[in-house]
Amino acid sequence: MAKSKKKEEKPEKAEKVKKASQKAAGPDKASKAGIDDKAMKFMREYLNTASPVGFENSGQKVWIDYIKPFADEIMTDPYGTAVAIINPGQPFKVVIEAHADEISWFVNYITDLGLIYLKRNGGVDHQIAPSKRVLIHGKKGIVKGVFGWPAIHTRMGTADQKEPIPKVDNLWLDVGARNKKEVEELGIHIGAVVTYEEGIDELAYDFMIARAFDNRIGGFMIAETARQLKEEKVKLPYSLYVVNAVQEEIGLRGAEMIARRIKPDVAIVTDVTHDTTTPLINKNIEGDIACGKGPSLAYAPAVHNKLLALIEKVAAEEKIPVQWRALSRSTGTDTDSFAYANDGCPSVLISIPLRYMHTTVEMLHKSDIINTIALMVASLKALTPETNLSYFE
Ligand SMILES: [Zn+2]
Repeated sequence: MAKSKKKEEKPEKAEKVKKASQKAAGPDKASKAGIDDKAMKFMREYLNTASPVGFENSGQKVWIDYIKPFADEIMTDPYGTAVAIINPGQPFKVVIEAHADEISWFVNYITDLGLIYLKRNGGVDHQIAPSKRVLIHGKKGIVKGVFGWPAIHTRMGTADQKEPIPKVDNLWLDVGARNKKEVEELGIHIGAVVTYEEGIDELAYDFMIARAFDNRIGGFMIAETARQLKEEKVKLPYSLYVVNAVQEEIGLRGAEMIARRIKPDVAIVTDVTHDTTTPLINKNIEGDIACGKGPSLAYAPAVHNKLLALIEKVAAEEKIPVQWRALSRSTGTDTDSFAYANDGCPSVLISIPLRYMHTTVEMLHKSDIINTIALMVASLKALTPETNLSYFE
């Protein structure tokens, strides 16, 4: 999910949030299915492959390798968006989509003492940076580094001196080099991208954590959707384009490009949304969404009401729990790109609840992954070229 450019309203007062229940919603029909070993192996490999905005090709290769057996054709575009096409050549075209890129940093300035200052590449969080380990993707391969930060002993000059707050302009990387030449000899250059090191891990009660679940969990879910359609030998009455788009985090750009190329008739987009049950989030502003209670559907002008009603009906029929959000002029997701890129493409957003977005410990619940896939599969089965999406009939 892209960070809105607009300055967000400050919550007046942090709402006192009750301790979020550890117990997720009980297992329903879909979540009993589980995620098998083959899928988990792919999820781990995909999540642990860095795919910084603008440099997504490593992750895309992992994704293409996995989805290839479930598709009839693979297509890529000039900036690296990958598309798996099922039942190609039909006049009616449906897209299911996720974004492949992850937030990262750019090397911006190397000091004479060999320290590195950065620029953001997407909405990467400066507050969590100090003491994080990073990977710098340089010309000679990956170089390890750390975000340095003054020790607790040294950063308080006098008793009344305020502690420094991490900001882009006071955060630096240390790679062990002691001058600019040593940095450059490692293959590090201005414009090299930097990602955090942390990968995927599992917590108790079916929770998982990872860097960049936003939105590689989306890439995982659309690939698993394609796999289920293949394994169930579903014959679709339209061409399905399974799209893993680049460059979402800097303004929904990859989706904009590929929407124009495909010109779909319908787009079903999946991304992450905020679990709002942890402290310091104001439900008055962010709404009420919890991990483990199913995918989230949203109302927004870009979301097509009749398509949304179809998804809601499918969810009810399949007994898939859903949670509701209201979004306004921007959904902050590729839904906007698909809705508005051409001459109006009915689009809908199915989001998976996530805690701690844009940190290295993005956290989600397995049952939501399974239910989101189930909702996409069932919706694709329900949709036909004859589905009436007119607002006036
Ligand atoms: Zn995001």
